[in-house]
Amino acid sequence: MQAVALYPDGPELRVIEKERPSPEDGEVLIRALRVGIDGSDRRIAAGEIGGDVPDGEDHLVMGHEAVGVVENANGTDIEEGTVVAPLVRRPVDKGSRFAANEELDMAPPGTFHERGIMGEHGYLSEYFVSDPSYLVEVPESRAEYGFFVEPTSILEKSLDQAFTARSAFDWQPKSAFVLGNGNLGLLALARLETGDEFDRTYCLGRRDRPDRTIDFIEEVGGTYVDSRQTPVADFAEEYEPADYVFETTGYPKHAVDAVHALGPNGVATVQGIPEGSASFDIDCATFHRELVVSNKALLGVVNSRKPHFEAGAEWLEEVPTAVLDRLMTGIYGLDEIEEAFADSPETLKSVVSFDR
Ligand code: BGC
Ligand code: ZN
Repeated sequence: MQAVALYPDGPELRVIEKERPSPEDGEVLIRALRVGIDGSDRRIAAGEIGGDVPDGEDHLVMGHEAVGVVENANGTDIEEGTVVAPLVRRPVDKGSRFAANEELDMAPPGTFHERGIMGEHGYLSEYFVSDPSYLVEVPESRAEYGFFVEPTSILEKSLDQAFTARSAFDWQPKSAFVLGNGNLGLLALARLETGDEFDRTYCLGRRDRPDRTIDFIEEVGGTYVDSRQTPVADFAEEYEPADYVFETTGYPKHAVDAVHALGPNGVATVQGIPEGSASFDIDCATFHRELVVSNKALLGVVNSRKPHFEAGAEWLEEVPTAVLDRLMTGIYGLDEIEEAFADSPETLKSVVSFDR
């Protein structure tokens, strides 16, 4: 079978011929349908993050946003033909507390692998195997869009954490502000705009019109905020204090600025992962005071677990497919891997398809 592999020397992406994996006891064989490409994949391919190869191997099969069909149930309970999206993390130690609780998204760094990201092969291959407890069913009618379940699950986890952090009182959020108009930001905006948690949504970018991302933001019903005119820290005065901020930029100052964008009792979740170090002059007293006197919360959120995937799959079934179609700006075959990993102002979501 064919697979897209990262060779860390270089680094270099290559489409390689690999033996089709055979499921071990308790594992199933899945035929890949589609795999989404995101910012993490592009950074891995560029050698900026992750990319650790599995023990004893010289390459890492890429891909962590997948949808596939169970081809061989191998005696497990799952039905052959079921459309599934696989979770990303796998435990280093299967007996660990976070593995046993199915809460690997909360496991400390070093205790897990992330398939297609670090330490374990991903899903950008014609076939892959998985323990079925790491699979979530995708409605058959949404098989073509099932790779959106993984990125949606990140937003679902963040919402779960935000609402839980406010569960000690009667929180009545109205407005949500997404930082970043990349593929995760736009997907999150669509989810927040079509969901019933918030009445008004905003999305931050730094682009001039005409622009595809601005069109998308406005078509789904959000308000575009140009960071060159309205820095995040000024958002509350120029628009409205946000009840919820979802950060996707990885711009280190945004973790601090997000708190200023919040209104009283607001919550910000940060998901971007900045590289290296960056220093800024910040008014720590104002930051600290605002957190305290306005009961604000700032949460870091990474990865996601089964209930978040299930929530993502549920949303996928409800959202008009036209919204998802507008996000999908390129569907590529294995012979177009360079294009699939390329980024441009016209790229919203790129997808590798195994359809035949
Ligand atoms: C993935 C997460 C992962 C994170 C950090 C994201 O792109 O969607 O599942 O935990 O990268 O590696
Ligand atoms: Zn991702």
